[in-house]
Amino acid sequence: MQKLKYLLDESEIPTHWYNVVADLPNPPAPTLGPDGNPISPDALSAIFPDDIIEQEVSSKRWIDIPAPIRQAYALYRPSPLYRARRLEELLGTPARIYYKYEGVSPTGSHKSNSALAQAYFNKKAGIKKVTTETGAGQWGSAIAHAGSYFGLKVKVYMVKVSYEQKPFRKSLMHTWGAEVIPSPSDQTAAGRQILDQDPKSPGSLGIAISEAVEEAAQNADTSYTLGSVLNHVLLHQSVIGLEAKKQFALAGDFPNAIYAPCGGGSNFGGVTFPFLEDKLEGKDLRLVAVEPTSCPTLTKGAYAYDFGDTAGLTPLMLMYTLGHDFVPPSIHAGGLRYHGDSPLVSQLHHEGLVEARAVGNVSTFEAGVAFAKAEGIVPAPESCHAIRALIDDAIECKSSKEPQCLFMNLSGHGHFDMAAYDLHFSGQLQNHHLPQAEIDKALANLPKT
Ligand SMILES: *Cc1c(COP(=O)(O)O)cnc(C)c1O
Repeated sequence: MQKLKYLLDESEIPTHWYNVVADLPNPPAPTLGPDGNPISPDALSAIFPDDIIEQEVSSKRWIDIPAPIRQAYALYRPSPLYRARRLEELLGTPARIYYKYEGVSPTGSHKSNSALAQAYFNKKAGIKKVTTETGAGQWGSAIAHAGSYFGLKVKVYMVKVSYEQKPFRKSLMHTWGAEVIPSPSDQTAAGRQILDQDPKSPGSLGIAISEAVEEAAQNADTSYTLGSVLNHVLLHQSVIGLEAKKQFALAGDFPNAIYAPCGGGSNFGGVTFPFLEDKLEGKDLRLVAVEPTSCPTLTKGAYAYDFGDTAGLTPLMLMYTLGHDFVPPSIHAGGLRYHGDSPLVSQLHHEGLVEARAVGNVSTFEAGVAFAKAEGIVPAPESCHAIRALIDDAIECKSSKEPQCLFMNLSGHGHFDMAAYDLHFSGQLQNHHLPQAEIDKALANLPKT
C-alpha cells in the first residue's frame, strides 16, 4: 500500500504557539491611533482582554498554549497531512503534492484554532459575551462553537448578502446558541449610517466589523473577537505549520513551495510562518499567498496605513489594502472578500519573502472540482484558490521535469458552499478582474497619515 496520511498522536499537539515577530528581518510597523501616533496597548482594552492584547504586541518567539485550549484542540488536532497521490496521477506531474486538512475541525475550517483560544482568554478574563463579524460564515460558526464550549454568549454580525445566500451557516451558528444579525443592521450607529446612505447595502466585512466593535466598546462585559488579520490570530494559527513540520519529518520530505488561500492572512500565516526560518536559512522554499482577481489585495492594493473597518473605528494598520470602503462585487462567489490583509503577511510580501498570486473565479472552482474528483474532499471555495495555484505549478513541473515538493493548506471543506458550486456548474460564474479605475477610486479614500 502507498502511504497517504501522516498522522501525529494527540500528545503532539503543539505546547506553544510560534510568534513570527521574533524572527522578522525588520520590526513590525506600529499601529496608529486617530491622531497619527502609535497607540498604546491599553487603548485596545475596551474591546480585548489583557492576554489577547499581550499576544497582539508580543515579540516573544514562543507563547504557551494553556492546557484547556490544548484539550479543546484535541477535539480535532493534530490534523492530518495527506499526500495527494491521486491528484499527482490525474495531473501526470512529477511533483510530490501534500495537503494539510483543516476541515476536520467541528466547524469545518482552520478558524476554530483561533476561536477556541479567543473564547478561552475572554472567559478567563470574566467576559460574558463576545461580538464578531462573519462573511461567508466560517468564522461566525467557529466562534459560536467556541463560545458554547467555554460558556460565553456570542453575537455575530453577518454580511447581509451571505446571510441571505448561506442560510445553513446561520442554522449552524444557531445550533451552538449564537445570535446572528444581518449587517448592516439598525442595532448600531455604524449600521444605521450605512443604511441611511444605501438601504439596499449588501454589507461587507468592513461594515460588520464596525458594528461588532461598536457594541463591544460600549459594553464592559462584552469583548470583540475577529477571525483573521491581527497578530494574535495568526499566532494561534501557527499550530498548522508547527504540526506540518513534524509531519514532513515523518514523510522524509520537505516543501519547495507552500500555498494557502489568503483573505485576512490567518491560515496563510499559520501554515507558512513556522517555515520562514527555513527560508531565511536559504532553503529553496516559496511561500505563495493566493487571492481572488476580484478582491486582489496583495497583488493590486496599496501598501499603506488604513482602517480595518469601514466606519474607521479601528486603529490604522500598515498593510496592503484596497481601501476601507471597498465593497467586493456581488458576482464573486469564492470568499476572501476582506479589503485589507494581515500587517505581518503584508510586511513579508513587501519585503519580498512572500509571493502573492491572484486567480479567477471560474478557474478556481475548476481546480476545486478536479481536487474533489481526485482526493474525495470537496474543498471550501476559499481553499480552491490555493489548489488552483498549486495545480498550475504542478503542471509547470511537467514541462520543466522538475520533481518539486508542493504543499498546500486545505483550509476547510465546502459542504456549506454547494450553492456556489451550483453557480459554477450552471455556468453563472465569470472570471472577474477588478478594474483599475475601481481600485483607484477606493484607494482615493485612504486616510492621510
Ligand atoms: C476564512 C477562511 C479563509 C480565509 O481567511 P484567512 O484569514 O485568510 O485564512 C480561507 N479558507 C477558509 C476555509 C476560511 O474559512
